[in-house]
Amino acid sequence: MIEIKNLSKIYKEKSGRVVALTDASTQIQDGDIFGIIGMSGAGKSTLLRCLCLLEKPSAGQILLDGRDLASLSGKELRMARRQMGVVFQGYNLLMQKTVFENIAFPLKLEKYDREKVNARVSELLELVGLSDRADSYPSQLSGGQKQRVALARALATQPKYLLCDEPTSALDPLTTQSVLNLLQDISQKLGVTVIIITHELSVVRTICNRMVVIDNGRFVEQGTVAEIFHAPQSTIAQQLIGKEA
Ligand code: ADP
Repeated sequence: MIEIKNLSKIYKEKSGRVVALTDASTQIQDGDIFGIIGMSGAGKSTLLRCLCLLEKPSAGQILLDGRDLASLSGKELRMARRQMGVVFQGYNLLMQKTVFENIAFPLKLEKYDREKVNARVSELLELVGLSDRADSYPSQLSGGQKQRVALARALATQPKYLLCDEPTSALDPLTTQSVLNLLQDISQKLGVTVIIITHELSVVRTICNRMVVIDNGRFVEQGTVAEIFHAPQSTIAQQLIGKEA
C-alpha cells in the first residue's frame, strides 16, 4: 500500500515560490487501478515525481507498505525504487536500440544473465503483443506500439507498482482503448498496482476503481470512481463530469 500523508511540494524559483502540492493525503491499496486526474498545472507530474522518488517532498510523508521513504538509507531507497515501474510521457525510449534491447536495458542494469534476459524479454513481448517486433527500432513503431514497449520496459524487473504519466494523451481513440485494455490485463494477470496520471476523464472512467481529483495542488475529492461519477462534490469534478455527459 502507498500512503500519501499531508504531502506538500514547494519549488523555490528566483522569481519566488511555486506551491505545486498542498497537504495532499490519500491511500493507494494493493491491486488498485488508481486514477489521479486534474487539469494542466494542477500538480499531477509533481506528485508522480515524488512517488517515484525523483523529487523530495517539502513536507509530509509517502509511506510504502508503512515505511516512510524519507527515512530510507541509500540501499533501501534503491530497493524501494525497484518497486516502482514508471512510464513517462513521451515514452523515453532509446532510439538507437531495438525493441528487444530497450526492454532488456533495465535487466542488464540489474546484471541478469543473458539467458534470463532473453526469457524475460520474450515473456514481456508476448504480454504487450509485440513478439513480432523485437528487432524493430522505435522510429519504426506507431505511438501505441511505443507505449507498449515503454510498459514492457517498466515491468521488466517485476515492480509492485506501475506509474503511468498521461499514458494515452498522444493516442487516437482506438489505440487508447487497446492501451487501456493492456493496463487492465497487466493489473489482473500480474497483480501490479497501477497508478495513472491523466487529464482525461474517460481514462479514469474506463479502467480505474479509485481516484483523486487534484486542483491547484490540492486533492479536492477522492473515492471510488462509481461514487464520484454518480455524485461529484467538487466544482472541478462537476465541471469535468458535466463536460463529459
Ligand atoms: P501537471 O502535471 O498537473 O500539469 P505540474 O506538477 O507539472 O502539474 O505543475 C504544478 C505546478 O508546479 C505548476 O505551477 C508548475 O509550473 C510548477 N512546477 C512544476 N515543476 C516545477 C519545477 N521543476 N520548478 C518550478 N516549478 C515547477
